[in-house]
Amino acid sequence: MKCRHCGTPLAHTFLDLGFAPPSNAYLSPADLSRPEKAYPLRILVCDRCWLVQTEDHARPEEFFSDEYAYFSSTSRSWLTHAAHYAGQMTRLLALGPSSHVIEVASNDGYLLRNFVAAGIPCLGIEPTASTAAAAEALGIPVLREFFGEALGQRLAATGQQADLIAGNNVYAHVPDINDFTRGLRAALKPGGTITLEFPHLMRLIEHTQFDTVYHEHFSYLSLGTVSRIFSAAGLRVWRVEELPTHGGSLRVFGCHAADERPTEASVATLLQEEERRGLQQLSTYQSFQPRADRLKDDLLAFLIQQKRTGKRVAAYGAAAKGNTLLNYAGVKPDLLPFVCDAAPAKQGKFMPGSHIPILAPEHLAAAAPDYVLILPWNIADEVRQQHAALAAQGTRFVTAVPELRIQ
Ligand SMILES: [Zn+2]
Repeated sequence: MKCRHCGTPLAHTFLDLGFAPPSNAYLSPADLSRPEKAYPLRILVCDRCWLVQTEDHARPEEFFSDEYAYFSSTSRSWLTHAAHYAGQMTRLLALGPSSHVIEVASNDGYLLRNFVAAGIPCLGIEPTASTAAAAEALGIPVLREFFGEALGQRLAATGQQADLIAGNNVYAHVPDINDFTRGLRAALKPGGTITLEFPHLMRLIEHTQFDTVYHEHFSYLSLGTVSRIFSAAGLRVWRVEELPTHGGSLRVFGCHAADERPTEASVATLLQEEERRGLQQLSTYQSFQPRADRLKDDLLAFLIQQKRTGKRVAAYGAAAKGNTLLNYAGVKPDLLPFVCDAAPAKQGKFMPGSHIPILAPEHLAAAAPDYVLILPWNIADEVRQQHAALAAQGTRFVTAVPELRIQ
C-alpha cells in the first residue's frame, strides 16, 4: 500500500488491533445466530510525510450505513461549541448578509442554524439523508453529496464560492484527502477562510487514545502533515488553535497560498512542539502499541476482579470508540452484561463483536450497578452530571482511557 498523500510505499505499522467488525454494524436479535464479518484494523504511518492512515482493504457497503447516523444536536456541549464558533467567525471575518458560508458534512444543521439565525447565507453539504433532512427542516439549504474536487469546481462555476468553509470532524474521515483538499481550494473565494477541526494525533499519542481508531477513520492528523497536504493543494495554514474536544483537537485556519494574510506565530509554535514530541521520528510510532496493550490489560483486569468479587458493572454509551476498546480487549457480556445508550435506534440491538445488549438509559437507575464504565470518555463529565442520582446511591464511574480511572 502507498501513502494516501505522498505515494510513498508504507512499511511501518503504528497500531494493530487485530480484526474488528465495522464499528456501526449493530446487531438485531436475529443477527446473533448468523456469521458476523470482521476486517483487519491496522494503522500504518508514512515515514516521509508522517500521515498516519488505515490500511487499505475492500470496504463493503456496511461501513457507510446511515441507519445509526449520529445527530450532532443530541450533544448539548457540542451545540454550545458550535454557537461559540459561529459568533467568533462572524466577528473575525465580518460576515454579513452578502457573505456565503459552506459547511462540509453539515450533519443535522447543528452549526449552520447559527448562521441562518444571524441572516448570513449558507449551504450545507451532507450525503447522509436522515441528518440532511433534519438540517433542511431548520431552513438550511443542503446538497446531499460527498465533497471533493469535482463538487468544489462545480460550486465555483456556479458562483457559490465561500467566504468561510467549515469542516468539523470530517477531514479525518475522508478517504482521498488530496482530492478533498483540492475541493476546498476550488470552493474558496479569494480572501476566504477555511477552518477544519480534527482530533490531534499528538494528543492521541500522548493520552494513548487507541480506541479512537476505527475503519471509517482514515487519517490521524498532525499540524505538520496537514500543512504539507494544504501546501500541495495550493492552500496555507495561517493560524491554529488547540481545542479540548474529542480529547484534544486542532482547528486549523487556511487560506489560498498567495493570500496576503501573514502566517501567525501559533503555527510555528505548534509545529515545533510536534517535532519536540517526536512526531517526525519513527520510534514515537513504534512505541505506541505496548502502551495501548497496557490500557487494554488494565481494563480486563478490573472487569475480571469485579466479576470475581460479585460486583456489578454496566457501561454507558454504545459509541464507535467503545466498540474498538471492547473488541480489542475481547470483553463479552459475562464481564459487561449491558450498555445503555440514549439513541432509540440502538436500543434493543447488540454491540458488534462483543454482542453486549444495548438498553435505554433508564435501566441504569433500575439496575444501580456498582460501577458504570463510560465508553465515550470525551463526554464523561456530561454523563456523570446526567446520572448524578446514581452516584448519590453509591455507583462509581469508570473510564479506561487515558488510564483506568475510578471516580
Ligand atoms: Zn506520505
